Amino acid sequence: MDQAFSGGCACQSIRYTVARAPLAMLNCHCSDCQVSSGAPFASGVVIMTADLALTGEPRYYTVKGSSGALVSRSFCPACGTPLLTQSAANPHVTSIRFPTLDDCSAFKPMLDIYTADAQAWVCLDADIPHFPQSPPAPA
Ligand SMILES: [Zn+2]
Ligand SMILES: [Zn+2]
Repeated sequence: MDQAFSGGCACQSIRYTVARAPLAMLNCHCSDCQVSSGAPFASGVVIMTADLALTGEPRYYTVKGSSGALVSRSFCPACGTPLLTQSAANPHVTSIRFPTLDDCSAFKPMLDIYTADAQAWVCLDADIPHFPQSPPAPA
């Protein structure tokens, strides 16, 4: 994905546009992502928060993330679709749940994180880097 993109929740009452290409695309296997996504792992598109424009009103809740930092997650109050994740440790970046993209074919994971928590039956792509926990901070 090398340009601006857009997406929304299942009922389309929440829509977003992102003005620039993502910083990264990843799969997170942490236990929080498993619970909040209802899936064995969560695939996210990591962007600069400043590039995000949102219409509609998501609901937010905060949990203590696997990193120890507080993590804010949002979802659509009408349809329940998980949308955004933001860590208090780095509010300048936001992760968007990949299934909400208008063009999901643009998503290509570049790394797997928190693989220490991955379910044993999840097959990890050997062609991309795996990090047992959080990856090193981007340069
Ligand atoms: Zn919705
Ligand atoms: Zn996670």
